[in-house]
Amino acid sequence: MAVTDPHTTNVPTLPAHSDPDTDGVLDSGLLHELSYAFGGPFHFLLPHRFDNNLAAFRTVLGDAGVDGRVYYAKKANKAAVWMERCAAHQAGVDVASVGELREALGHGVRGENVVVTGPAKSDELLRLAILQGCLVAVDALDELDLLITLALTGVVSPARLLLRRLPPTQPHSRFGMNAGELETALDRCVRAGDAVRMEGFSFHLSGYATQPRTELAAELVDLCLTARVRGLQADRISIGGGFAVDYSSAEHWHTFLADQRPEHYHARKTFQHGDFYPYHSPVSGADALSTILAAVPEGGHTSLAGRLKETGTLLMMEPGRALLAGAGSTVFCVQGVKDRDGYRIVTVDGTSLSLSEQWFNSEYLPDPQLVTSTGRPSGSDTHPTCVGGASCLESDMVTWRKIPLPVRPRTGDLLVYPNTAGYQMDSNESPFHDLPLPPKVVLDHLGDRPRWRLDRRPAC
Ligand SMILES: *Cc1c(COP(=O)(O)O)cnc(C)c1O
Repeated sequence: MAVTDPHTTNVPTLPAHSDPDTDGVLDSGLLHELSYAFGGPFHFLLPHRFDNNLAAFRTVLGDAGVDGRVYYAKKANKAAVWMERCAAHQAGVDVASVGELREALGHGVRGENVVVTGPAKSDELLRLAILQGCLVAVDALDELDLLITLALTGVVSPARLLLRRLPPTQPHSRFGMNAGELETALDRCVRAGDAVRMEGFSFHLSGYATQPRTELAAELVDLCLTARVRGLQADRISIGGGFAVDYSSAEHWHTFLADQRPEHYHARKTFQHGDFYPYHSPVSGADALSTILAAVPEGGHTSLAGRLKETGTLLMMEPGRALLAGAGSTVFCVQGVKDRDGYRIVTVDGTSLSLSEQWFNSEYLPDPQLVTSTGRPSGSDTHPTCVGGASCLESDMVTWRKIPLPVRPRTGDLLVYPNTAGYQMDSNESPFHDLPLPPKVVLDHLGDRPRWRLDRRPAC
């Protein structure tokens, strides 16, 4: 019987875009088997979706006639399979630690296809980067000095580098160098001679707007021209990441934002609109790249694409989330159900550490799907349900929001959070409470019986 509490019957919903690949997995019966086998939550990965996303970025570059390279920003998901795909497709990887670099190289990504970002990189990381011929995005003057010293004193040189620009529109960013610092950096690169190869400039902007990326990219092209006059190579720029992912339709998203109120959340938890990721983006993924390339920078006459071509400048980008769009989901099993005033509190067999958004004063909003032993229930009933983690923390809520489930959830049902590969799965995972880390399962050959394997073989 449907719940009739007037405050919660009409709880807002935010369905993810329908996704036939994911639905096929949900309907295959495989997930209950895996949940039984692992005895806890797990993630499933769809590597062909990563391949498709990468291909879409490359198609945009090809259509625009722009020479460009795509580097997967590794921090967005730790799975080995993405490195394997990058190696197979000769795509690049953006790393920011020795561990990430080791992973990329170990799975076959060539050093020359790695860009090393992040602030104040360690000696060890810089040394490895030089030895492997990686491109280092230098964040500060002292880091540049260290890199030059290592290149001068090491057995291999030159050190390949980009200079990272502090975005003038985001002056409070702690990353990159301002105009004065860049001037000094150029002097030092010139003086370092053959020890370094100054290949260009980079930035990474917060937010998802495309026009600021066009503007700053055009500025970096001008910086390249200045640097070339001084005898430096300066033939490429990196525009970083920040290509939005579109999780839900415009209609659902705007309705959700307009309707949601504190009583729609467990414990009347409140979130501001601005705390939420923009779960609908009219322009996302490779389309965002297309928009960035087609736009004309302020005061200019040609599009960014035209500007890159006429100056012989190569365009690098470092998408993380966008390459993982649609490429994975997270599966929890319901361990208990309790009733509260007009809604249910479900406790699942894992924690909110496997859904990172919950740790940024925010909430992962795309509706999870319920999968019972007989499949995905349908119907127009509404059973408002929030989801707690299997820990002793009040704040460990996998979902604070009362999700409108079509049936009353029962122990043993699965809750599948869609589209979680980008940042949600593993950036915050820890063996809290001595719970094991959720394994990752790679699914290929989708169909009636998807074939699965572990992302990593168990240690012996
Ligand atoms: C995090 C990061 C990215 C990836 O950002 P997305 O929003 O996932 O595309 C790219 N470049 C740098 C330098 C980053 O820090």
